[in-house]
Amino acid sequence: RQAQYSALRDLPCVTKDGQPIDLMINAGLVIDLPHIEDTNCSGVGLFRTELQYMIGQSLPRSSDQLALYRAVLDAAGPKPVTFRTLDIGGDKALPYMETVVEENPALGWRAIRLGLDRPGLLRSQIRALLRAGGGRYLRIMFPMISEVAEFDAAKAIVERELTYLRQHGHTLPERIDVGTMLEVPALLYQLDELLERVDFISVGSNDLFQFTFAVDRGNARVADRFDGLSTPFLRVLRHIVQRAQLAKRPVSLCGEMASQTIGALALIALGYRSLSLSAIAHGPVKAMILDLDAGKAAAMMTKLLNAPAGSVSIRQKLTEFAEAE
Ligand code: PEP
Ligand code: MG
Repeated sequence: RQAQYSALRDLPCVTKDGQPIDLMINAGLVIDLPHIEDTNCSGVGLFRTELQYMIGQSLPRSSDQLALYRAVLDAAGPKPVTFRTLDIGGDKALPYMETVVEENPALGWRAIRLGLDRPGLLRSQIRALLRAGGGRYLRIMFPMISEVAEFDAAKAIVERELTYLRQHGHTLPERIDVGTMLEVPALLYQLDELLERVDFISVGSNDLFQFTFAVDRGNARVADRFDGLSTPFLRVLRHIVQRAQLAKRPVSLCGEMASQTIGALALIALGYRSLSLSAIAHGPVKAMILDLDAGKAAAMMTKLLNAPAGSVSIRQKLTEFAEAE
């Protein structure tokens, strides 16, 4: 199987009916970097910076952050890398930080909330990113944004650090795109305002699913109770891709759903043309794409989503479709 996938490595990632798909990988540590080359992916769609913070005994020094970010950009060469700023708290605790006991950590003081309340941490990380991106193309993305004001506040930190580095004679990135994860349902109701200010969005389907269905992603008793490949969630995902296309803003999806062959098929059928997945899923998903008639899949998806919710199993229909292809 692995040999079969490596035979696909150098083929362009295009559906049977000619739709190019950007397949990127998710990464977070130096050991992930060889996968950029192995998979011949289009870039790193999600670099989880918190992993460096989680594996150490203490906060990484800024020189360590800088070294990691430089190594990532070096490994990616001309391919774009989207660095997500610290997404800690919730299910991602830092063992050496004072633990804040919260009854609902997933809904608590995490990710950008923590970043904005303790801006020292976020500032030093952004400074390291901007320095690593000196003379290159840099993409910065914020996790768990819930309202546009948070995005504005986080972006203001980027501007402030840029000014600082400029004043101190550093080489600035050649181009910077600043975007956000879309993983909190409240953003769905400010999408137009959001799309006006961001350079891109990336759907975090893991958290978006968790919050849409009110299901703790880490709780085995309920985690599999509802299906992401169901009418309500697929309608949410369709709404996002349609609004983003109207606003002419790049949209991608970097949750686990993209790593499942059927999930990726559903996303392409909805109109997504950029996915970021785990490196191990790259081969199987690419094989599916090369075999896929995206137009036919889209027509089927429209029909399925127009049917009343609960009247058909979309997962089953998609599976049958994939087998018939
Ligand atoms: C997500 O929520 O879908 C996501 C990609 O982020 P994480 O899994 O790191 O929370
Ligand atoms: Mg998330």
